[in-house]
Amino acid sequence: MNNLIPGLRKFRENVFPHKQELFQSLSQGQAPHTLMIACSDSRIDPNLVTQAEPGEIFLIRNAGNIVPPYGAASSGEEATIEFAVAGLRVSNIVICGHSKCGAMAALANHVNLDGLPSVKRWLSNAEATKRRLEGSPRMENLLEVVQENVLVQADNLRTHPAVSAALQSGQVRIYGWVYNFETGTVSIYDPKLKAYLPSNKVKEEFVNAERFAL
Ligand SMILES: [Zn+2]
Repeated sequence: MNNLIPGLRKFRENVFPHKQELFQSLSQGQAPHTLMIACSDSRIDPNLVTQAEPGEIFLIRNAGNIVPPYGAASSGEEATIEFAVAGLRVSNIVICGHSKCGAMAALANHVNLDGLPSVKRWLSNAEATKRRLEGSPRMENLLEVVQENVLVQADNLRTHPAVSAALQSGQVRIYGWVYNFETGTVSIYDPKLKAYLPSNKVKEEFVNAERFAL
């Protein structure tokens, strides 16, 4: 708390006055363009990385940026996805993994999670990631596990009826990103190349285009 309280003051005195107009306009309601699903890891800050302002990104964060398949559990994720897609009508859904992800490391290294039964149960939603990579040398490379998991979670996302309907009507597109926090680089999955491209190599006009839609 010793660091947080002075931060609150700093925000109110130095940051808020510059954004007062923005917050005023947001009091009328929100119309975020993007639902982002990112990891809870403290080293990740989606708004900082994308330089988005309040009101732009509707955010779900959990251990391992996981999307339980529809009906797997009556989870907060399920309700939040439905609200973002069918209620707020976002245009983009970004699933964002990251380097050095502890959740994916636990999955890849078969860490004994008997002492953390809820984490163990939660990570079973990424079981397909493990199955897809088992026996492959890619399992030894944590970044590859993170990358594969983003694609697995995109598959889970499509099982949600609101997402399925929005994909069919063309309202929404799904994108897969991996953020490398040591280099400040985000890589975007290109389904045509079946590879992640560093964002500095991606031409801006393609970012929202069909090309990167999963
Ligand atoms: Zn993580």
